[in-house]
Amino acid sequence: MAIQWFPGHMTRARRQIQEKLKLIDVVIELLDARLPMSSRNPMIDEILGNKPRLILLNKSDLADPELTARWQEVFLKEGHKAIAIDASSGTNVQSIPVEARKQLEEKFAKQIAKGMKPRAVRALIVGIPNVGKSTLINKLAGRQVAATGDRPGVTKGQQWIRVGSELELLDTPGILWPRFEDQMVGYRLAATGAIKDQILNVEDIAFYALRYLTTHYEEQVKQRFEIEELPPQLDEDPNAVVAVMEDIGRRRGCLVSGGRVDLEKASGIILRELRSGKLGRITFETP
Ligand code: GDP
Repeated sequence: MAIQWFPGHMTRARRQIQEKLKLIDVVIELLDARLPMSSRNPMIDEILGNKPRLILLNKSDLADPELTARWQEVFLKEGHKAIAIDASSGTNVQSIPVEARKQLEEKFAKQIAKGMKPRAVRALIVGIPNVGKSTLINKLAGRQVAATGDRPGVTKGQQWIRVGSELELLDTPGILWPRFEDQMVGYRLAATGAIKDQILNVEDIAFYALRYLTTHYEEQVKQRFEIEELPPQLDEDPNAVVAVMEDIGRRRGCLVSGGRVDLEKASGIILRELRSGKLGRITFETP
């Protein structure tokens, strides 16, 4: 289910998160490791203010590990610890309570100095649709608590989920809108499946993805689709990209009458294999 964001939705989403901020100690900002900038809400700093924050680069199982490490450095320079996780399999998820607590060390040190015993840290997970918020909440809870496919503006009674003795999590995440200002952002979000294919043309999404892949991950493309040589100037010549798309379609039997390649079908294959990691670990944004 795709969310259509209108100004009213954005205002409501923002207000809902700001209401929840009053209840919590730390925000867990979930980003897609494959596109940390495009999957980030453009107003995030303004919305969260000076609330302590932990960044999680999710779906890191699908992202290029070298670039993920570079993104972590970038966020650290910005003042935010960022950890790479995979909410589906649970990789690094166990470190979240400790890392969330570390963001509040100063506050707790003061409390301990006053002879108080710090309580469990209260956290809210925020992120754009499809970034993996519900998957993470369920993983942390150790059971099915959050429904996937959430919608903005739909509120229900919220509850605290205990995660060990260190963390309490709000069971309803904060849903934020992605960046829209640049068309390329839309294609990156679509290529990774963050926004549904119905919004943008599937052939255009595959074209964008393939142009990026053939210029940044040439070997993976050649290997996966058993292509010996790619045409030159793929980043400048759209026809060359289409030729690769047709080549892939032919190899995968996407033919229509007259021996022409069914580009829509070929596009579907390219995108499915990209999103499921069959092309290897791909990141669409470089710091
Ligand atoms: P939400 O809209 O932010 O709540 O996102 P969901 O939790 O519904 O996740 C969206 C999709 O991403 C689902 O198909 C999940 O299975 C998938 N997903 C979530 N986390 C990961 C991850 O770390 N790795 C991979 N490969 N897929 C993930």
